[in-house]
Amino acid sequence: MIDWQKLADGIFVIPGNRWGKYPSANCIYLKDFCLIDGGAENAWNLRPENILNSHWHEDHISMNAVAKKIYAHELDAKAIESYEEFERRYGLGESVKLFLSLYPNLGFRKVDELIDDSQILKFGSMEVEVIHTPGHSAGHCCFLIDGRFLFLADIDLTSFGPWYGCLDCDVQEFIDSIERLLKIAKDVEIAIPAHGMPVKREEFEKKLLEYREKIFEREKKILDAIKSGIDPVGKGIIYKKLPEPHEIYKNFERIMIEKHKERLKTTECRGES
Ligand SMILES: [Zn+2]
Repeated sequence: MIDWQKLADGIFVIPGNRWGKYPSANCIYLKDFCLIDGGAENAWNLRPENILNSHWHEDHISMNAVAKKIYAHELDAKAIESYEEFERRYGLGESVKLFLSLYPNLGFRKVDELIDDSQILKFGSMEVEVIHTPGHSAGHCCFLIDGRFLFLADIDLTSFGPWYGCLDCDVQEFIDSIERLLKIAKDVEIAIPAHGMPVKREEFEKKLLEYREKIFEREKKILDAIKSGIDPVGKGIIYKKLPEPHEIYKNFERIMIEKHKERLKTTECRGES
């Protein structure tokens, strides 16, 4: 039996295993029209006409091989279309193949329609507004469905905090994207992350603020380490305990710390503290 969670007529959350704990991910299904992302195991038997990709990571493009039409933001399209670009953005060499083997319906293929910020997509009577929210990836998008359900994709509100371990990530953009969502938080009835449980309006703003705060907490620790002449990588600042395989996660941590250093450089240039 498919485990659907109905949000409204024709609008469903398809939860991934353990509410989308990676390598799984939650999806949204606009019945008969469109699947948003493809990481939920319960979605793998669907044959959707259209798939809307929030961004290029493997747990989101994992149904692309079976759809007729793929939608994605221009800045992520290349990594959805080409394995070489996917591998390049991870900066891990061929070890990324390890991730790909987890998804039977994943295929690198052409993006048929590029989407852009503020665009309204129409699927039957349903409207999906594209909100370009870079930071986690260059072309990462959230989707506001029916003006009240917000699919957050990987602005996922987890207690781990924001993730920016690929080459096209950007810490300042991530902060700006969270702040953009804060501005519309009060209009959102339910926010659905790709990883973790849906969040109701009353909790949403607080969760976004806590999530943003993680970035500043990490940055302060990184700065303290640098001032003390310590290399911050592998000191528990990002990953308290490095998951397996250690080398891969250590590399993510290294990139995330580099991304903080890039932000620190530009804030110093602007004379901010
Ligand atoms: Zn992602």
